[in-house]
Amino acid sequence: MLWSYATHYVCDQCEAAFELQQPLNLCPDCGGLLEVQYDMKRMKKELSRRQFADRSRSMWRWHEFYPLKNPDYIVTLGEGDTPLIPSVYAGKQLGLSQLYFKNDSLMPTGSFKDRGFSLAVSFAKELNVKRGITYSSGNAGASFSAYASRSGIDAAILVEYLANPVKKAMIGLYGSPTATLQFSSMTEITSMLEQGVRELGLYQFVNFINPVRHEAMKAYAYEISEAWNWQAPDVMVHPVGTGGGIWGAWKGFKELLELGWIDHAPRMVAVQPDATGPIVRAFEQGAKTAERYGDSTRTIAQSIAGDAPIQGGGRVLKSIYDSNGFAERVTDEEIIEAMLWLGQEGIGAEPASAASLAAVKRAVEAGRIRSDDRVVCIITGSSLKQASAVQKAVGEPRFQLNADFRELSRLLEEIWKDR
Ligand SMILES: *Cc1c(COP(=O)(O)O)cnc(C)c1O
Ligand SMILES: [Zn+2]
Repeated sequence: MLWSYATHYVCDQCEAAFELQQPLNLCPDCGGLLEVQYDMKRMKKELSRRQFADRSRSMWRWHEFYPLKNPDYIVTLGEGDTPLIPSVYAGKQLGLSQLYFKNDSLMPTGSFKDRGFSLAVSFAKELNVKRGITYSSGNAGASFSAYASRSGIDAAILVEYLANPVKKAMIGLYGSPTATLQFSSMTEITSMLEQGVRELGLYQFVNFINPVRHEAMKAYAYEISEAWNWQAPDVMVHPVGTGGGIWGAWKGFKELLELGWIDHAPRMVAVQPDATGPIVRAFEQGAKTAERYGDSTRTIAQSIAGDAPIQGGGRVLKSIYDSNGFAERVTDEEIIEAMLWLGQEGIGAEPASAASLAAVKRAVEAGRIRSDDRVVCIITGSSLKQASAVQKAVGEPRFQLNADFRELSRLLEEIWKDR
């Protein structure tokens, strides 16, 4: 039995193989994206589904499926194993009998990014990386800042000028130097970062340019399938920015299929804002890569507002096509409605995460999701991260009251008259 069954990297583009234990970002031969490979044959022989149940609750109980080799380097704040919550409100509104929310707003820094950074920072420590850089729309920056500070890695964080003030401040709170980044398209950011790899040898933590962050997202597949006695969902709905979340989850389901631990994989659904959805447009055109498209400033769903995914979003589109899934666009109005629906469920989601539920509504109306499908929406980030959007959606309290019993009883009568 091994602690990790990861073996090497393979380049998506030129298929060259590289040793795992080195701080690589892009393929040194062709600049393509690297993917971690595992000894699946040996995993099939040596691992059983049961052995994971007794371990303590954390995404780290799936360590055999990650590239880290030595547990001494784990940097953790308690990631993963978040609740899988059955819908009590939205499901009824939509006529869905099996709608669930995987509530990653409960992660240590308030977004699902913590899964990826716990793994990527641990791996960087193992490789003796001293410095790292990432670009962020807010949540990745906060997460990287927290894990880098804890572990003593010098982090430089470039945060989009569009990011809301709370997110920018959170990056500072966790202690890493931050710069606000001006740009007119994601393509400028990507090419700047790729040049940083080539010319300065900077170790990057941007999804996909960093080849291990999305490995942690595979745990969605493990956690959800295990919760249903090794039954996968029928539909997984992910808000998509870079696509690290959806690609990682899809990789996890493929591994479980290969191991024979589940008998079907879900259809993967990518959600983007109507104002800037390059993946959705590419999907509608049947294209394998996405062109730059849209305007990042014209949506409240800041965490998924990129106009140009890294290397054309090829991985995201592949996960959609290979799983027989689809892509869905949602407007800000639909996102705000979904935030309020999630509120009825007891879940506070930032706009980008509520986009997943808004997409489910569209997909049900279009007949792409059936009433008995088992559907999981990933709730990727907390409402507290974008409090201004909550204020916009909800406004001031509807009623006012002086501390007077008569006023109170009149008020309660009014509040409850239709109940
Ligand atoms: C980063 C982020 C996303 C998008 O995730 P990707 O892995 O970049 O596709 C979605 N929702 C929230 C809240 C995020 O912070
Ligand atoms: Zn290559």
